Amino acid sequence: MDDSALDDRARGLAAAHRAATGFLASIDDRPVWPRASLDDMLDAFGDALPDDGTDAASVIDEMGTRADPGLVAIPGGRFFGFVIGATHPAALAADWLVSAWDQNSGSSRLTPATVALERIAGRWMLELLGLPATASVGFVTGGQMANFTCLAAGRNAVLARAGWDLTDRGLRGSPAVRFVVGADRHGSIDRAARFLGIGRAEMTVVESDDHGRMRPDTLSAELDAGSGPLIVCLQAGEVHTGAFDDFAALLPIAREHGAWVHVDGAFGLWAAASPRLARLCAGMADADSWATDAHKTLNVPYDCGMAIVRDPADSIAAFRTGGDYLMYTGLDPWDVTPELSRRARGVPAWAALRGLGRSGVAALLDRLHANAVAMASGLSSVPGVEVVNDVDYTQVMFRLASDDATRALGEAILTEGTAAVTGAEWRGRATLRCSMSSWATTPDDVERTVAAIRSLVSSAG
Ligand SMILES: *Cc1c(COP(=O)(O)O)cnc(C)c1O
Repeated sequence: MDDSALDDRARGLAAAHRAATGFLASIDDRPVWPRASLDDMLDAFGDALPDDGTDAASVIDEMGTRADPGLVAIPGGRFFGFVIGATHPAALAADWLVSAWDQNSGSSRLTPATVALERIAGRWMLELLGLPATASVGFVTGGQMANFTCLAAGRNAVLARAGWDLTDRGLRGSPAVRFVVGADRHGSIDRAARFLGIGRAEMTVVESDDHGRMRPDTLSAELDAGSGPLIVCLQAGEVHTGAFDDFAALLPIAREHGAWVHVDGAFGLWAAASPRLARLCAGMADADSWATDAHKTLNVPYDCGMAIVRDPADSIAAFRTGGDYLMYTGLDPWDVTPELSRRARGVPAWAALRGLGRSGVAALLDRLHANAVAMASGLSSVPGVEVVNDVDYTQVMFRLASDDATRALGEAILTEGTAAVTGAEWRGRATLRCSMSSWATTPDDVERTVAAIRSLVSSAG
């Protein structure tokens, strides 16, 4: 490699550093929602494919300048849309290094440093969340794939117990797997089921309560009504209300019926890392698999989900592949995830955990919860605003008297620019949803958001 290529890299990285720090410095003052639409952005980038190339720094300068109006201020303290965290400083910096290192992290023989970092991040996580230390942790792209990965392991396991080797015999002719979910499960559970060959009409849907928690008496009745291989999906953190299923009541029922129990805890699993909030997860550690996102509550960059399976043999049975050239060494990342080549996406999780420590993760959780409580209390003080849910965790749902007024307020908030919240429908009514998921949110951000909403409501009224 000649010197100019090295210089081109170094200049490109310097340009990226400038663009990144410039963007982050602008976050507090820029409108949170993007000013430009997709069409604006396509116009901005939509030149014909260039005949000739250019140097890395020019590429980055051009990209940064043109993208700017179409960027949403997710890394700041006043983005409350969906459930998506910001990025912890150590995790962000580590993520850059992951790209510079360029380690294809499926195999521990090939990439021992990054595989070790991921393995230790996984161990730390299990310890923080009170999950079995011997569980396998597969780093996947996000909660969707974590749910899929866990449920694939579960499907194999329950069929194996019924005497059916899925790897050998395939799905056709296999005993039907009963797939039991709550009425307020996340949509990614249905999509994971679809990938696994389980149709919507085949799912057993158990009623939930007013906050979206599965009803134990109904689960019991549904499970009594059937037999055969069984998977039960529970949830830590309903995406609207933030509510947690009552694991201590539900898990023994599922166990009695021989179920594989999976917990979708994309953002809720992290509650177990805070001594103050851990009661929400009581009994959860008795499940067979757990899905979570580091890119939500732990605040690492996308993409970073984790598929945790109690018995690593179950994930290996679902995912280990063949190939004489693959240099097997035991338990490698590609044994427990659907991927072969992959970026070392668990390394930023190691960096976040190293940067925060046990007390820092607990403090982060407690701060998110305290901010959510403050937001709910501030919003309740605005005339006409009703907070719809009990704020036990990080989610706050609110609305005005009519659905139209609620939707109009949602649009007005995005246009005004101080903060971003996103809409949802809950029990047939339009609501706005404010998810406290960013380490960067301060009490001042909460106050500024409430003040902006107060003034929008009063000017509309
Ligand atoms: C966000 C979320 C998912 C999906 O996670 P992705 O990382 O977006 O794939 C699944 N379940 C719940 C409860 C979620 O909040």
